[in-house]
Amino acid sequence: MKSMKTPRGIQLELNFNGVEGNRFKEHLDNGNFTVLIEMHSPPGNTKAEDAFEIGSEMEYTVSARTKVFASLAFTDRWSYPDAMDVVEYASTICQQEKDRHILFLSGRNRSLDEIRHAAGHALNEGFRNIVPVSGRSRKEDTLRDLNGRKTFFTESILSLQALNKDRGKNLHLGTVVNPYQYTVCSSLAQTSKFMKKALCGATFAISNYGWDLKKLQELRCSLFRRGLTIPLLGGFMMLTPDYAEEICAGKVPGVRLSPDLQVMLRQEAMHSSAQFEAAQLRRLQIHAAGARFLGCSGIILSHVSTAAQAEILLRRIEEALEEFSCFEEYLEAYNEYYGRLNMAPYPYQFYAFNDLLKKLYTAELPEIASVEFPEQTLFTSLRIELLEKLCGNAHIFPASERLFTKKLLAGCRSCPSCRLPLTSFVCPERCPKKMANGPCGNVQVDGRCIHTEKECIFAEMIRYAAEKNDFAAIEEIIAPQTGN
Ligand code: SF4
Repeated sequence: MKSMKTPRGIQLELNFNGVEGNRFKEHLDNGNFTVLIEMHSPPGNTKAEDAFEIGSEMEYTVSARTKVFASLAFTDRWSYPDAMDVVEYASTICQQEKDRHILFLSGRNRSLDEIRHAAGHALNEGFRNIVPVSGRSRKEDTLRDLNGRKTFFTESILSLQALNKDRGKNLHLGTVVNPYQYTVCSSLAQTSKFMKKALCGATFAISNYGWDLKKLQELRCSLFRRGLTIPLLGGFMMLTPDYAEEICAGKVPGVRLSPDLQVMLRQEAMHSSAQFEAAQLRRLQIHAAGARFLGCSGIILSHVSTAAQAEILLRRIEEALEEFSCFEEYLEAYNEYYGRLNMAPYPYQFYAFNDLLKKLYTAELPEIASVEFPEQTLFTSLRIELLEKLCGNAHIFPASERLFTKKLLAGCRSCPSCRLPLTSFVCPERCPKKMANGPCGNVQVDGRCIHTEKECIFAEMIRYAAEKNDFAAIEEIIAPQTGN
């Protein structure tokens, strides 16, 4: 990995006020609409001068805005470890006011200790807003297995827990959530994971990239129903015709375009590139204004390549925030723009509430949708019942205890310590990324994992919770990493 030399002199920015002296947090707390622009750590072989030039222009552009609070979100979540060190990159770009920006720290091929170390480094440099993520896997990744560690992932929940314990007083920790899930199990599994993250110290949230505003409102309502009101920033991606085609082809895990929206985008792409861009700018305005009406604290933009583009986008967002005087007026414009488009990737179209995006829900909630959980097979129910009876305390006994039963009934892979009772008797070792506390971003729209092409293991846990009518465990119990 290439190390970058700081082109300008380092200006130390000492801050002894803990999270209080934090511009990003202050703006969220004061309800100022915040726009984050995602900045990827460049590949390790990028010339330091080039990387610095693009980044510092972007930093200057966002810092100069006065109508909206704008800042950068540095990330290596798609590329670590082939990218420049994200803390080093961000430190080089941002010479001052580092507490206005945020840093994603990816768990891809980073151990918990390495994440702790990176967060400590970030804090020493003056960054205070950290979002640990598990990190993206690619379909072609060789994931770790019992034959040796290849690509591995540290779960974001465990990183949050550790950072909160180590440096909670000085760090403002956030998390990501993907509300764009359209099957009952995928949707509830995301919400449950989110609740755990809040328990582990996340105090703000950033949504995955998506276009379905009903899902943002659904998420806000789900959290409100559980008594959780933390600032949420909606994710929006600036599309090019080529990138839109990649998403349509399912090549971007976790990002969904409904068939109706795909048709609309293809029609837009048939005209000139200027017209395509104009359509995306209007889409951004509809999204930004909608996010604000729905109670989001801001948005995060991805695929912004130049400072000049960022300047245009920020100006358009500022205009959009002033364009509509009330939600009803906004809704009229939304309906005019999207017409009767179905934003759900049907046939998958689960929403936890009825009547979303029809009005604002501030004090009361919309009607809860009736939910039909896919039933467990008789074989699975019996298997789990036996596991409960025979291995209900397996997490406090040596892992070798009742090994044969665990192998037979749960596909046990001999972890150093057993977590079955903490994970609804579904062995987390069955997950290719070894996630134990909630689904990753690789769930396909139909609920299947991109690696196994089978149902994500967390769907099984949701069905178990539904059968027991007890969701508390999947929202509260944190299963540790085994180090396997
Ligand atoms: S089983 Fe679920 S959590 Fe594990 S990698 Fe697949 S989609 Fe992600």
